[in-house]
This record gives sequence, structure tokens and C-alpha cells, in this order.
Amino acid sequence: MNVSVAAAGQIAWVLGIIAWSVIRYPFERRAKRVRVVTDRRSAIEVFGLIAALAGMAFLPGVYVATGFPKFANYTAHVWAVVVGAICFAAAMWIFRRTHKELGRNWSISLQIREKHELISRGPYALVRHPMYTSFMLMAVGQAFLLANWIAGLAGLVGFAILFFLRVDKEERMMLEVFGSRYRDYMDKTKRLIPYLY
Ligand code: SAH
Repeated sequence: MNVSVAAAGQIAWVLGIIAWSVIRYPFERRAKRVRVVTDRRSAIEVFGLIAALAGMAFLPGVYVATGFPKFANYTAHVWAVVVGAICFAAAMWIFRRTHKELGRNWSISLQIREKHELISRGPYALVRHPMYTSFMLMAVGQAFLLANWIAGLAGLVGFAILFFLRVDKEERMMLEVFGSRYRDYMDKTKRLIPYLY
């Protein structure tokens, strides 16, 4: 029984990662055609991206494929799989909306593109970093879907490293480029969670 509950959680996680890739791919192709005019990528930024990739894709991927590290397994519960699936579904919905709103302004890293537009509508009216909100929800979902202390919690660690290494720099870059317009936008919005943070 619990083996099949654990498997259901893993299958849900794999489906979530597939959905993530399907949503991102067309935007990645389109954005790549727009010229970058400001590039703030740094070694720290690359480290954050690698940490997020390791925690949210590589470690859980190895776990789902091989069962490693078995010693960190715990008993899977149906309620946890349901909570995890709801987090993932919400994350994918927000992820898709942020891509639609950002459109050609999207970058995987800290970059400003030619004719960059400041977006403050849709999910961007509620928080300044809704795409990172969707990553956070994914990481929470992963913790509920994978009944393994290491593979499950690695996503939250990877997300936190990327987010906290990046967010100040990203906001500073936006302030430099958009000045008082971004300052006003900051006054009206929180970072990740509406009305809270
Ligand atoms: N932090 C945002 C965007 C992530 S993509 C979010 O979580 O939704 C990262 C790139 O998006 C940054 O390099 C920056 O160029 C761009 N960006 C961030 N906020 C933006 C905004 N409000 N409008 C337009 N572009 C933005």
C-alpha cells in the first residue's frame, strides 16, 4: 500500500517536471531571439542556478530513477501526495501565467533585453517575483510528493539558495533600469507572497 502511495508521489513529481518543461520551452526559444542589453550574470548567480537545478531536478531525479538514498525514506501518506499534487498544479498555473506576462522580457538569469518592458499586471500586480513564487510552490510540492528526507527537502534548499542569492541583485538591476517606476511598483507589491513577504 505505502509502496504504491510513494510511487504515486514520484509519478506526480515526474509529470510536474514534464509540465514545467513543456511550459518553458517555447518561451525560452522566443526570448533567445531578443537581444540582451544588460547582463548581470556572475559566478554567484551561476552557483545559485546550479543549486536550484541540483535540488529541484538532479537529486530528486536520481531518487526517482534509482531509489537512492534509501536510508532517508519514510512512510508515504495519501494526504501528503494530495497536498503535493495541489502545490504542483498551482505552481504550474502560476508559472504559465508569469511566462505569458513576461513574454519576450524573460531571461533565465539577470538580464535586460532590448526594449525591455516593466510588467506589473496579472500575477505581477500581486507580487514582484511570481515566477519565484511558483518555484517555491514546486519545492514545497516536492517535499510532500517524495517520501524521502533528502530528495524531498533538497528542492527547498536549492530554491532558497537561488532566491536569496538573486533577489536583491535583481531588484537593484530593475531599479537602475526603471528608476522611480520600479520604486513605485515596489511600494505597491510584496516579493513572493501577497500581503505577507
Ligand atoms: N523575478 C521575476 C522574473 C524572473 S525571470 C519573477 O519571479 O517573476 C528574470 C528576469 O525577469 C530578470 O532578469 C529581469 O530582466 C526580468 N524581470 C523581473 N521582474 C520584471 C518585471 N516586473 N517586468 C519585466 N521584467 C522583469
